[in-house]
Amino acid sequence: MNKHSAYRFLEKLAFERVSGSEKELEAAHLLVDECRSMGVDAVIEPFSIPAPAVTDVRLEITSPIQQEIYCTGVGRTGQTPEEGIEAPFVYIYGGEDEYITDVKGKIVLSTGGMKPELRKKLVEAGALGYITTWGGYYDDETMKTQVPHRFARLPKDDTSNFPGVMINLYTAKQLLQAHPETVRLVLRQDKDAKGESRNVVAEIRGTQKPEEVVLFSAHYDSVEFSNGAWDNGTGSVTIMEILRYYAANPPKRTVRFVWCGSEEIGLMGSWAYCKQHADELKNIILNINFDMTGVLMGNNGMFGSCDKSVIDYGVFMGKVHGIHFQTRMGLMPSDSTSFACSDVPAMSFGTMTPKGGAEIHSRRDTIDNVDPDELDQICAFATAFSAEIVNAKINVVPRALPKEVTDEKEKMKTLLGLE
Ligand SMILES: [Zn+2]
Repeated sequence: MNKHSAYRFLEKLAFERVSGSEKELEAAHLLVDECRSMGVDAVIEPFSIPAPAVTDVRLEITSPIQQEIYCTGVGRTGQTPEEGIEAPFVYIYGGEDEYITDVKGKIVLSTGGMKPELRKKLVEAGALGYITTWGGYYDDETMKTQVPHRFARLPKDDTSNFPGVMINLYTAKQLLQAHPETVRLVLRQDKDAKGESRNVVAEIRGTQKPEEVVLFSAHYDSVEFSNGAWDNGTGSVTIMEILRYYAANPPKRTVRFVWCGSEEIGLMGSWAYCKQHADELKNIILNINFDMTGVLMGNNGMFGSCDKSVIDYGVFMGKVHGIHFQTRMGLMPSDSTSFACSDVPAMSFGTMTPKGGAEIHSRRDTIDNVDPDELDQICAFATAFSAEIVNAKINVVPRALPKEVTDEKEKMKTLLGLE
């Protein structure tokens, strides 16, 4: 490993790379070029993503004052007539049952998100549309328009028309201060429109057991308004450093690298990979995923969707390298879950933010949070740890998944809409 090479590549990669965007494609080309600079070929594998096209969205207070509120339309939620719907406004707090008794014919504000179960209850209770929130209470004027364009993941049997918009939490506070009696909501969209995202895949064939594969993954997309330096530029450069190592030190087993697109909209890249490569999954002995590494503050986590012996070994090796890991067994909200849900043993590394600490998924996720030396340290550890498995005499990873995964697998697939 070259000193700070991970950080130098991160400097190139730390720009907004939203799922399915031109910028995501630009990042994919950077990854391909970096692999090729080390003499390893890489390919871009496209896949289709939902990209609902909102054509009109508006929210305004109509009484007792007249005021426009900046919002974005939530894709796939439904639509209003062209002129919108004007209806009484009601705040339902976090959407607890007690607050959704008087919503019939009204437009509701929920500051507790809009999970499918809440949506179902509100539709049944006769609510007409909803407003949900994003961002922070202490945001300022400049953040009013930094509201992402999201879409809802709805269960297949949900065919209801329940249009929703999203506003900044700071804006929501102003909305409540205006004590609105009625509001108008306009949302027009083509909810079935599709877009294209892509994975980047590279491979170095094993010298002794090429049919056995250790697959490294990291998502390289970011959310809107974020450079995604920490989440997950860091993981992306971490597996690039691992590739750098194996390019110079040929592995006994095959090592494959997958930079996943569209993780941020629901693990779509890794799931697409598992579908597109279904017949090869039996050869993958372990998926090692990285989602957020290399920052000075926070807790290092190692998450096991594989036999616990692998995690125990990782914790032990971490100590050898002076890195403490907290551990958890089960499915993680990252790409390792797509592999585990496809019956491939998987594990994930991630540095969690300290309490009250640095932010991800916001404009504050910049390279300033990432430390070059810390990044080198985690890359060195990750490489050494993986080499123990990649170059082991026998396959050291049991195939069976732990109970924590088998118990949760089907529920998680439904939750993510993976099929
Ligand atoms: Zn992430």
